[in-house]
Amino acid sequence: MNTSLETDYLVVCAGATAMAFVDTLLTENADATVLMVDRHHRPGGHWNDAYPFVRLHQPSAFYGVASRELSNWAKDQTGLNEGLYGLASGVEVLAYFDQVMQQHFFPSGRVQWLPMSKYSKGAHGSHQVQSLTSGERQQVTVRRKVVNATHARTAVPSTHPPKYAVAPGISCVPVNQIPHIGRPYACYTVVGSGKTGMDAVLWLIQNGVPPHRTRWIMPRDAWLMDRANNQPGADDFDRTIGSTIGQFESIAEATSLTDLFSRLEERGSLMRIDRSVEPTTYRCAVVSQAELAQLRRIEDVVRMGHVKAIEPMQIVLAQGKVPADPDTLYIDCSAGAIVKPPPALPVFDGDHINLLMVRWYQPLFSAALTAYVECHLGDQDAMNALCTVVPSPEAPADWLTMWAVTLANTARWRQHPGVHTWLSQFRLNSVTAMMRGVKADDSAKFVRIKESGAKAGAAAANLPRLLAAI
Ligand SMILES: Cc1cc2nc3c(=O)[nH]c(=O)nc-3n(C[C@H](O)[C@H](O)[C@H](O)COP(=O)(O)OP(=O)(O)OC[C@H]3O[C@@H](n4cnc5c(N)ncnc54)[C@H](O)[C@@H]3O)c2cc1C
Repeated sequence: MNTSLETDYLVVCAGATAMAFVDTLLTENADATVLMVDRHHRPGGHWNDAYPFVRLHQPSAFYGVASRELSNWAKDQTGLNEGLYGLASGVEVLAYFDQVMQQHFFPSGRVQWLPMSKYSKGAHGSHQVQSLTSGERQQVTVRRKVVNATHARTAVPSTHPPKYAVAPGISCVPVNQIPHIGRPYACYTVVGSGKTGMDAVLWLIQNGVPPHRTRWIMPRDAWLMDRANNQPGADDFDRTIGSTIGQFESIAEATSLTDLFSRLEERGSLMRIDRSVEPTTYRCAVVSQAELAQLRRIEDVVRMGHVKAIEPMQIVLAQGKVPADPDTLYIDCSAGAIVKPPPALPVFDGDHINLLMVRWYQPLFSAALTAYVECHLGDQDAMNALCTVVPSPEAPADWLTMWAVTLANTARWRQHPGVHTWLSQFRLNSVTAMMRGVKADDSAKFVRIKESGAKAGAAAANLPRLLAAI
């Protein structure tokens, strides 16, 4: 061990959730010091490894950290997101987190940051950091808490090689490589149907590959969300609140899970690529209607389970084989962005804080709220009640389990005066974002907010019956 460090909070990693946590901690606690450690050379976590054409799935308007806007609140004028608020590119997300570190965290004089460093727990609960460049090891003394922000375990194809066999001579690249294709191929095969696979298909279409030359290996069909249903600002208030109310009505009125999904689809709350195929997964992927229309242009969709092996003349899948053009470029999109559900841990766990989701797929909102609760409450049970963990999505029914915990948490936040007031001005709160620009005397909109609260209550009343069927 070469040297030692001391800090109030040791934050393991500098990904997006860690950045959101530290930002709110600095605002809500006047003197706490923070040491951040990450294997990457700059903040942003998995965004450092993402494919070059990656973008946020959600409007930038409510992504990032609480103290700094990520977007200029402009709507896209062209392209597949036309008419909707802008989606920051991966490069913009990384530049943003770098600015947060350089222009906010460092000037506070309270944040130390160790890039290219690996954290590990030593003997007797000690904390060690090792530089990945010099090899130097440091012991860290933590005066308050260790914040584990690594639970997301986000996986992207550039860091997670495919699990299937690829015969010699086959052109198979991670999605990061497709902008560097050196020559045209007769056929392009996208392996994987998560959001990354969808982005790869859209990239091929946008970059001149005719849809009939693209094949799509789709092990599972997913339920998708319509981005137009969750837009910030007064202009889109009616649609966004209408969609939320529609989801609550669907939960309140559904007699079974099958009935629930048919109501959600009918109302446009959930969508699928092929209406004749029953989705078997839900991973919170968000698309625009224009993107969905493009995805539906691919006719050669292979639904035979996961790929086992790619051979020159055929693809071997879990449920059979399909012939393949030998002049095919295979594009690997098989890493599941959400690798595995986070462990069954509470958020507040003695001298550890686990950054986990406490609102339906809003990891940064969740991390910032966790920091607020850490700064203003002292009783661990009360803190965990406000931050009950929302399960990660996997199966379609998780749409419902995520809502169940989110609704229960939201009710508790409303009852806590400090949390309630803080949330009403919190930039990452999608409800605050939706209210931006709504005039105080616009009574029609406030009636809709009240209606949404009442419908949430009706949904909560029917939840136990629906959850019992899972
Ligand atoms: C393509 C894509 C688009 C997305 N779009 C959105 C979106 O629009 N909105 C949204 O809310 N979410 C989105 N997400 C979800 C996204 O995962 C989160 O927004 C967020 O970036 C997750 O950040 P994180 O910090 O939790 O995890 P990560 O980014 O995975 O960061 C974890 C970090 O921990 C570090 N680490 C792990 N172990 C150690 C160790 N022992 N020592 C040191 N460092 C360690 C890793 O190096 C990594 O930097 C998207 C995800 C993907 C893949």
